[in-house]
Amino acid sequence: MLGFDLSEEQQLLTSSVREWAAREVAPRIRELDRAHQFDASLLPKMASLGLLGVCVPPAYGGAGLDYVSLGLASEELEYVDTSLRVILSVHVGLNSLTLLAWGTEEQKQRYLVPQAQGHKIATYGLTEPSAGSDARGIQTVAIRRGDRYVLTGEKMWISLADVADHFLVFAWSDQEKKRQRDPSGISAFIVERAFKGFSSGTLTQKWGILAGNTGFFKMDEVEVPVENLVGREGEGFKIAMFALDQGRLTVAAGASGLVRACRDASVAYARERRTFGVEIGQHQLVKEMIAHMESDYQAARLLWLRAAWLKNVGRRNTREVSHAKWFATVASERAAGDAVQVHGANGYSDEYPVGRYYRNCKGAVIYEGTREIHTLMQADYLLGYRTDKPSRCELPAVE
Ligand SMILES: Cc1cc2nc3c(=O)[nH]c(=O)nc-3n(C[C@H](O)[C@H](O)[C@H](O)COP(=O)(O)OP(=O)(O)OC[C@H]3O[C@@H](n4cnc5c(N)ncnc54)[C@H](O)[C@@H]3O)c2cc1C
Repeated sequence: MLGFDLSEEQQLLTSSVREWAAREVAPRIRELDRAHQFDASLLPKMASLGLLGVCVPPAYGGAGLDYVSLGLASEELEYVDTSLRVILSVHVGLNSLTLLAWGTEEQKQRYLVPQAQGHKIATYGLTEPSAGSDARGIQTVAIRRGDRYVLTGEKMWISLADVADHFLVFAWSDQEKKRQRDPSGISAFIVERAFKGFSSGTLTQKWGILAGNTGFFKMDEVEVPVENLVGREGEGFKIAMFALDQGRLTVAAGASGLVRACRDASVAYARERRTFGVEIGQHQLVKEMIAHMESDYQAARLLWLRAAWLKNVGRRNTREVSHAKWFATVASERAAGDAVQVHGANGYSDEYPVGRYYRNCKGAVIYEGTREIHTLMQADYLLGYRTDKPSRCELPAVE
């Protein structure tokens, strides 16, 4: 049976996130964005709504909702501002759900529980100054010394780099495989901000998601206990890709929320602004832009819902979630460009929110797999050049 009704729990989550974000964030977001200010006081509020562990089981401190709920929360948060959704993407999608699937019981107790409760904030560090799409190009190394790994390297363009307490970090633990670019030489580690040799900073030249924190961190011979190795040595690349399957759901759902925000702002403006004696909504070319926003929103939402449903029932969804992320982010760029267009010169000023939408949407077309990487993935699935092999650890299905 196919059903599109949200459960009572999902409806309640949607309305509580929507009301909270409209009441407590929307009135201040323009000023936060203008001031390039990340408001850390939002984190405890998001924790009290259960968002920081939304689909983590209660046994590990979370709210125990399903993966559709993770998408719904992402959509509602990005409807108000991308910076809010990014918190869910890195903290829940990329980091916590990876620990849930791949972490040892000790790692879950030590790291996942405080993250799901919102006492600690977590992020994901794959990208480096010289490697983004080409993840095998990372240079960070992890050298085993007794009961520790010593990590040295620099991660760049990391969301919440200057805010997070815990970092899921990828590094070469096999130096011969590094020379051969064999990804089975990469391992994943949990690094704490408090570890000696760790330092971070904020990127100040960024022009979008200005109310969000994006930065870099450096590891100068950071000693990481072997207990903080996630998965087995050499499974880091697989873990990095696994994490993206969850992160991409949040990005896809968030981008759908951004399309909806563009649509709503454009509808309101089209009913208010008059040219040639009529509301601009009466002009067919304006109607066309608004109609496309609706079409994109509905299609993007269906695609991420399908991916979330596959996660709920415990089925592999790398292909579907890539499709959802690719479609929704490209659609959000189109919608934001048209929303500015509907607003004319007013859209070119930050007196109206659409300029912020236009700046914010572009990041998601780049991170968690660029538009081009997803285009290639989708073609490769069709052409038979790509198939997904079973993973040793899977995201638990929702019971
Ligand atoms: C706001 C923001 C937040 C981010 N947060 C995080 C984070 O929290 N953690 C993290 O690890 N990273 C994060 N990133 C980094 C992001 O994941 C990378 O920027 C992304 O993977 C692209 O890598 P790159 O910037 O090095 O671009 P490159 O890989 O250098 O790509 C440059 C261009 O070449 C194209 N290209 C590259 N390879 C191919 C190919 N094989 N075929 C066709 N075209 C290709 C790309 O599509 C792109 O258009 C963030 C980035 C941004 C902008």
